[in-house]
Amino acid sequence: MNTPRRFWIRTHGCQMNVHDSEKVANLLLHDGWESARGMDDADLLILNTCSIRDKAEHRLYSELGKLREWKELARGRIVGVAGCVAQQQGDALLRRFPQLDFVYGTHNLRRVPEMAAAASRGVRDAQTGESRSQERFDLPSRHPSLEGDPAGRAFVTVMEGCDMFCSFCIVPSTRGREISRAGAEIVAESRDLVASGIRELTLLGQTVNAYGRHDRRRAHERAERAAGAAIALAPADPEHSFADLLGRLAEIPGLARLRYISPHPIFYDDALIRAHAELDPLCPHIHLPVQSGSSRILERMRRRHTADEYRRLVERLRASRPDLAITTDLIVGFPGETSADFAETLALVREVAFTDSFSFKYSPRPGTAAATLEDAVPDAVAQARLEELQDLQRSLTLDAHRARVGETTEILVEGSSRRGGAQLSGRDPFHRIVNFSSEAEFPPAPGSLIRVEIVDATPHSLIGVWNPAIAGDRAPRNVKMGALIADERSAVIGSERASALRGGSRG
Ligand code: SAM
Ligand code: SF4
Repeated sequence: MNTPRRFWIRTHGCQMNVHDSEKVANLLLHDGWESARGMDDADLLILNTCSIRDKAEHRLYSELGKLREWKELARGRIVGVAGCVAQQQGDALLRRFPQLDFVYGTHNLRRVPEMAAAASRGVRDAQTGESRSQERFDLPSRHPSLEGDPAGRAFVTVMEGCDMFCSFCIVPSTRGREISRAGAEIVAESRDLVASGIRELTLLGQTVNAYGRHDRRRAHERAERAAGAAIALAPADPEHSFADLLGRLAEIPGLARLRYISPHPIFYDDALIRAHAELDPLCPHIHLPVQSGSSRILERMRRRHTADEYRRLVERLRASRPDLAITTDLIVGFPGETSADFAETLALVREVAFTDSFSFKYSPRPGTAAATLEDAVPDAVAQARLEELQDLQRSLTLDAHRARVGETTEILVEGSSRRGGAQLSGRDPFHRIVNFSSEAEFPPAPGSLIRVEIVDATPHSLIGVWNPAIAGDRAPRNVKMGALIADERSAVIGSERASALRGGSRG
């Protein structure tokens, strides 16, 4: 039998999953695999899964069912399953789906080449062990054939796992305990990416601004032990503070934009709030999940802050950076949510005037604390609330967009617009999509930073016109261009993003 050599990765879920797929593509390229053009010419297919809500998990089972036929179309084809469902189900997936060859969990990416090789010899395997060492961040540098995002954006992992245990959330069991990556490694990877032409970095972590907190606590404990003191604390180790990390990254020459996702409201300190006023490349946008506007529900969700504390944080952030765009995540129909609780959510959304939000109907996840709560909200009620909330958000987003007509904004060009025609598309510093037409003979290349005049607004995007006579445009740097795959935020070659990141379908 010929050894299978071309891979294709289909990714569901959040940015962490997208980035994990990039890491696995890179590992496979280093191992001599090539990227396929699609499923049809692939020998190895990996489904990178999401289990944040029930729907995402069921989609995997139906997809796996269909893969039996795909495998039979060519000899020696291999199927692997990765991500959060893989982490939870492990062996059980192999038993349930005979067409499946291997399963690897969120801590076992480095095992993929070896598991794929074993699978081609007929060995089926599941690896879901948890690693708590820095080794899991130790991955090879970018392979020359790993074509990045044409717009010149890249993700950088700064921490993994989550210790917050919000009562609705499966992530602490699928991603394991919180661990921060060494600052020097993060800075080195970021420097390399920028040197290769990347313009925008997004720092990733489930609670990204909790970066380094366990290392700081351990440093305090060590200092206390050394001093023999019971109370005196050593000053926070700046090597392990998120604000400090942002400061170090913001100094990288050539880095135009710096973002981070997802922060947790309770991990904003003065230095981080100040960073939004002081650091030039740090974009004026924060995706700051609130989940509910009712403090009673927030307590049942174990979010560790009240609605008013969230309001005060928003005030402080806006005092630091007045033009800050804030987007959020919201859950409706959490057990026990009354119409009064929901009214508080609507009130908070109106008051904060989120630029946009992702809203979800609560989905009970087995094994989470909320799964045992009684007083479930009937589905029809949750659905009606979701629609009311989304209607409100659409009108707020449209207001925010309309207020910007007449402005000139800098956008990072991504390529053709989803609307088709000759329109191009990009994102501005506030993370808004700007679809624009060009008055120039040649359109700007993906990865260019250009200044566009906003002439119109819809609830989904801003409409602009690019006139190259406006000064201040910056051409793309030496990014290696990949084929622009429609609907891709992260166009890793040999992979596709299966779920859109908009309209309530965020991972
Ligand atoms: N770590 C981030 C945070 O703390 O907000 C978010 C992680 S999660 C991948 C993304 C979003 O999914 C959450 O903010 C929440 O709104 C939603 N989510 C998580 N569990 C859910 C559940 N059981 N039902 C509905 N939505 C859920
Ligand atoms: Fe952690 Fe975010 Fe899930 Fe809460 S919602 S448990 S902070 S990943």
